[in-house]
Amino acid sequence: MSSFDFDLFVIGGGSGGVRAARIAAGHGARVGVAEEYRFGGTCVIRGCVPKKLLVYASRFAADFEDAAGYGWTVGKPTFDWAALIAAKDREIGRLENIYSGNLEKVKATLFGERATLEGPNQVRLASGRLVSAGRILIATGGRPAMPHELPGIAHAISSNEAFDLKQLPRSIAIVGGGYIALEFAGIFAGLGSAVTLVHRGDHVLRHFDADLSSRLLDAYRARGIRVELEAALLGLERSGPQAPIAATLNTGQVLEVEQVMFAIGRAPNVEGLGLDRAGVQTDRNGAIVVDALSRTCAPSIYAIGDVTNRLNLTPVAIREGHAFADTVFGNTPWQADHSQVPTAVFSTPEIGTVGMPEDEAVRKFPVVDIYRAEFRTLKATLSGSAETMMLKIVVDASTDRVLGVHLLGPDAGELIQVIATLLRTGVTKRDFDQTMPLHPSSAEELMTLRTRSARHVQHHEPLRGLLPQ
Ligand code: FAD
Ligand code: NDP
Repeated sequence: MSSFDFDLFVIGGGSGGVRAARIAAGHGARVGVAEEYRFGGTCVIRGCVPKKLLVYASRFAADFEDAAGYGWTVGKPTFDWAALIAAKDREIGRLENIYSGNLEKVKATLFGERATLEGPNQVRLASGRLVSAGRILIATGGRPAMPHELPGIAHAISSNEAFDLKQLPRSIAIVGGGYIALEFAGIFAGLGSAVTLVHRGDHVLRHFDADLSSRLLDAYRARGIRVELEAALLGLERSGPQAPIAATLNTGQVLEVEQVMFAIGRAPNVEGLGLDRAGVQTDRNGAIVVDALSRTCAPSIYAIGDVTNRLNLTPVAIREGHAFADTVFGNTPWQADHSQVPTAVFSTPEIGTVGMPEDEAVRKFPVVDIYRAEFRTLKATLSGSAETMMLKIVVDASTDRVLGVHLLGPDAGELIQVIATLLRTGVTKRDFDQTMPLHPSSAEELMTLRTRSARHVQHHEPLRGLLPQ
């Protein structure tokens, strides 16, 4: 037995930290875990899970309208924000207990307090207690980035507060053009708020396929969401606690809204963590620098998840934590694979995407074929709603290999999870063509996309020196 108090001390009881702790303990390690807020972390407490519950809530309004086309008579529906938040809180409390309970089951020692580094093998707890550990894992996640220099920023909220508002805002301006801004714009609009999306760029979801971005904005505008592109907030003013916020834009407009929410990215949680005392380096964004095995430059210290700013998604943090624990404590080295990671934006309509967007494929491959379809869903025929589905397959024409699949519409997130496995196995367009469609479904259209919508041919310079002479 080592002379340290613990074989592993995990700072941060979120998605990645909890997985690493459980697996390491399963390999026989003596594990301590410190969590300064609530076990479960961002995803469970104020991220993925409560967000998806709010998304579900926001979609009922359209469902009630759709029902009429199918013969149902639904009275005028009413919505109670306080009831939704209370139900959400009960579920989050239940999950939080499961997370801490699972750690207790594997005999990890839990500290419900903040922890910081004192040295390469020492952790200081908020209570003042000093503990030692053979290995330390930093899994402290991230926090919302806020423009602290903006005049009146104290009047604005981030996603953290959005989950616990006392009442549904009648109007809200949401700043940002990424996952959170688009998801919350859909949530608040569905629940009845007047939503204005303010984004600095000329299109949202910069790293996504351009069709997804433009078709989502079209759908949002059609739902009545006001979209201000190439716009920025210059300042916020409020004359009293009940008064609306006056948000001045660089375009000269002044928006009068009940809430302003910033969703302009997240910053790694490293402030005051004592990284310098332990010799751990960060990059210029504050993210902890790690190698593929999540090793920092201090040999006893590892970091995983959002604090390393690799791919800030829950399943990625979980895989990184699992790989770390198996590698260091289970004598089974492996690395989390960050390629072809499927992702969804839980906007309404929803996005599901995996692999290369069209523009990236065109930059990287000499001949790229695009297969694309957009159609009204079968459900929309009787409901009379404007619901459509967009499907797009990006293909390397020289090998027929599918490089990317991009979906916008109902259940896009569910579909893309399975399609991601196909991409990993090198699926070709011919494989799609030869798969028997399942009828009637929206997904069957992926198997019946016979006609190419576009072919991009690049005239690359031959790679002299790399080619045989
Ligand atoms: P976290 O889950 O953030 O856990 C870090 C924990 O460390 C926190 O509990 C924190 O309190 C604690 N901590 C920090 N510093 C200390 C300290 N010094 N001492 C003790 N404890 C400390 N991802 C998806 O895949 N799908 C989604 O749908 C999705 N939706 C999201 C929606 C929102 C609104 C947000 C904000 C994020 C969403 N994410 C989603 C991202 C996902 O939540 C993160 O990628 C994931 O939680 C990262 O896990 P982690 O373990 O790295 O960090
Ligand atoms: P994103 O990185 O997705 O988007 C940030 C947005 O804010 C971009 O549109 C960016 O514009 C804009 N922006 C950045 N800085 C500024 C600034 N100073 N002023 C104005 N606009 C700015 O971050 P989010 O906050 O939406 O989400 C954080 C992360 O959490 C995501 O990247 C994702 O990893 C994870 N997440 C995942 C979800 C899911 O899986 N469904 C859901 C929610 C979050 P530009 O494009 O010009 O840089």
